[in-house]
Amino acid sequence: MRASLRRLAVPLVASLALVVPGSAAALRTPSAEAEVPSVAAGSVPTPEQYFGFEMGAEGELARYPDMLKYFQLMSRRTNRVTYEKLGETTMHNDYSLLTISSPRNLQRIDRLVEINRRLANPRGLSNAEAKKLAEEGRPFYLLFASIHSTEVGTGQAVPNIVHRLATENSADVKEILDKAVVLVVPSQNPDGQELVVNHWYDTKGTPYNRSYPDLYHKYIGHDDNRDWFMFTQKETQLAVALQNKYKPVITHDMHQMGSSGARMFVPPYLDPFDPNIHPLLVQATNTVGNEMAHALAAEGKEGVVWNDVYDYWTPARMYMVYHGQPRILTEIASVNLADTYVNPRGPDVPIGPQQPTVNFPAPYSKGTWTLKQIVDYGDTAAFAGMKYVARFHSEWLYNFYQVQRDWVNRDKGPYAFVIPADQRDPYATYELLKILQTAEVEIHQATAPFSSNGKEYPAGSWVVKLAQPFGSFAKTMLEKQVYPDMREYEGGPPMPPYDIAGHTLPMLMGVSVDTAQAEFGATLTQVEKVAPGKVELPPTPQGAYLVGPESYGAFRLVAELQKAGVPTVRAAEEFEAAGRTFAPGTFVLPPSAQTRGVLAKVTKETGIPVYGVDTAPAVDGFQLKGGTRVGLHRGANNIPGGWMMWLFEQYGINHSVMSAQDFEGDLNDRYDVIVLPPGMTKNRIVNGLDPTKNPPEFAWAYGVGEEGWRKLQDFVEDGGTLLSLGSSVAGTTELLDLPIEPVLPDDEKEFYSPGSLLNQEFDTTNPVAWGMTEEWPVFFESDQAYRLKPGAESSVVSRYPGSDVLASGWLLGEDYIKGQANVISHQVGDGYVVTYGSQVDFRTWTRGTFKLIFNAMYQGPSTPVSAQQLGQRLGG
Ligand SMILES: [Zn+2]
Repeated sequence: MRASLRRLAVPLVASLALVVPGSAAALRTPSAEAEVPSVAAGSVPTPEQYFGFEMGAEGELARYPDMLKYFQLMSRRTNRVTYEKLGETTMHNDYSLLTISSPRNLQRIDRLVEINRRLANPRGLSNAEAKKLAEEGRPFYLLFASIHSTEVGTGQAVPNIVHRLATENSADVKEILDKAVVLVVPSQNPDGQELVVNHWYDTKGTPYNRSYPDLYHKYIGHDDNRDWFMFTQKETQLAVALQNKYKPVITHDMHQMGSSGARMFVPPYLDPFDPNIHPLLVQATNTVGNEMAHALAAEGKEGVVWNDVYDYWTPARMYMVYHGQPRILTEIASVNLADTYVNPRGPDVPIGPQQPTVNFPAPYSKGTWTLKQIVDYGDTAAFAGMKYVARFHSEWLYNFYQVQRDWVNRDKGPYAFVIPADQRDPYATYELLKILQTAEVEIHQATAPFSSNGKEYPAGSWVVKLAQPFGSFAKTMLEKQVYPDMREYEGGPPMPPYDIAGHTLPMLMGVSVDTAQAEFGATLTQVEKVAPGKVELPPTPQGAYLVGPESYGAFRLVAELQKAGVPTVRAAEEFEAAGRTFAPGTFVLPPSAQTRGVLAKVTKETGIPVYGVDTAPAVDGFQLKGGTRVGLHRGANNIPGGWMMWLFEQYGINHSVMSAQDFEGDLNDRYDVIVLPPGMTKNRIVNGLDPTKNPPEFAWAYGVGEEGWRKLQDFVEDGGTLLSLGSSVAGTTELLDLPIEPVLPDDEKEFYSPGSLLNQEFDTTNPVAWGMTEEWPVFFESDQAYRLKPGAESSVVSRYPGSDVLASGWLLGEDYIKGQANVISHQVGDGYVVTYGSQVDFRTWTRGTFKLIFNAMYQGPSTPVSAQQLGQRLGG
């Protein structure tokens, strides 16, 4: 941790139809003068009465299913709350939404939503008309709790907040209900809340750790708030659908941070902010944050800091800012899950920094910190935010309109992004368009050829204009990021971005996209719903079906072929057939009815083209091993391993998650391929979870010991394939004595590249890089580059270019990395090893480079076949 006076907070890292309540309303006669009728005292039990303890009671945590029952009770007993199940989560818990407002607003909710939608897409609306709508409408305040499940206090705060809104008759609450609509997602990750809270109770009175030791989202753990542009997970999809439906003017995202620094962070954020965020939203963020800090100060709640640690850069963490809203991140210091945190320096020594500064005027004066305080700080901040939005309700709606109006009327360059129809990966193109459309970006398609900036585009090319309601999302996702060179002090170390620096979607996915600065003429129609390209299978051929290696969708095909037991050969060299050139790695498939069935299914999902030839190509190749068995050694609470598990499941890869018990036997009996994702260091594999601290259900993630570790070496030497990525490469290199050495200095003043896209040159004749273009960026997240030791016989699959290494994001010290190797393949004994210095799998965003993993996975266990044998193999 770098020392800096400015860093006072401590982040926690790695570490539909609405039911209008009728029954209750009918029992009461709203008083003529009061907009918000009072609720009779005692009509709803308090959280303490309902759960048997007060929210934040030492060591106690309300369970999610009980909270839902409590919220449903409130929706029945009062006329201020409606409860709605929006869908199911990954592990089949209910994903729910509460809509809280005055009975009058709830009765006209459809009209209020209609106003929001009109203001969100204000084409043809005058300022005067918008003002009228802003006065008629009500701003929606979205409160979003418990996305990070170990940050338990934010979830425990929700019953209190909802109970106050549902029953309190104070002027403040009545104003909130009358002038605003509050949407509450009580948990953005109910699965994790269940896992963490159940583990907490199950381990009570045992020698086991009380904290849940694995990913608290089945696949992506703490990265569940890094999914806001790829939309991979069900919970993200549900949240985005509700954002799109209701169009809130603000999202308040409740989190917790580390225990030892400031007590709470509220905005303003640190620089930089993504310049695609409208300045009005940046100011709104600053103002709401300061309202919260002000309210906390007024209640004597000490230790609040702003302008610290958290920045406003990556869309992975904030869908809402590209949809007209400020994202208000609040972070409250954590306790020991539900137990009081005591200053390790003594219970009377105040926790955290003690030097008052303008962004931290009241240092915290106590030596202890409780769950109850988290609940109370959260309550104060939420009410300050809601009150502020309610008080200036028509301004909020009008400002929401102004942000949207400015995007719709945008008159500066670039004019549009053009996505040429003739892409080498039609599946990637479809997935990219789908992402844009999920975010409500309007996409047009040309019905005739056109030209822009001197380049000809075929009919069918897509055009994404930036003058549109959610143009900011399109722009940030499709453009190259230029991250500012920010230092702790002049000439000092870099100030790290809170998350990553570069996220250019076309580069991540392998899609060619052009920027059109100036307006151009083209005949366009708007695309209603993007779909994979239509593929006509060729007439049944005599010789073989051919599928090129360019699309990552081809690996959906391979997985299906493996399942169906269809013999699959890959051409080792380029060849000519059917009047065109096929690249090395082309899939050569038997012309059977079974193959045709698989092709029909996969091409429908992916749009990848299929060719037929009446004579099998005369080319040497490799036959893939039928039913290739993949072991994913993902590791407990190792986020890259979780992401990879998700992707393998999506692609139908024949894999299983490895357990420590696998290492007791012969690994070659179980697996053809073992994958070590980033994070699987030697230490994690050897030591794993401590059996004395973690119950037997986590035995799969116990350490394998030095003996197990050496079995990985036996596995490779006896013919196994080992793929080692990112931070796992160091251990693999040591174990197998690989002839490579790292080249990048540790000193961040010398070399630094946090989550950026770096250019790369590929040897496309190497099987690992089959289907890649000769140059394409890879993701680099504070990773390593390598050089071969003298005399090494390993093959460099890809390396950084000799100049212009940075493609998008931030890079310091290019001289250290230029020309150095990244992906390297090795022959070790009878086995095959591929090391990936950079995270070419990062969060599965990097679909364009996942081919490097899939290729190697199937190549290792494959068998060479000669041109003569090839025809026979296709016969089955
Ligand atoms: Zn968090």
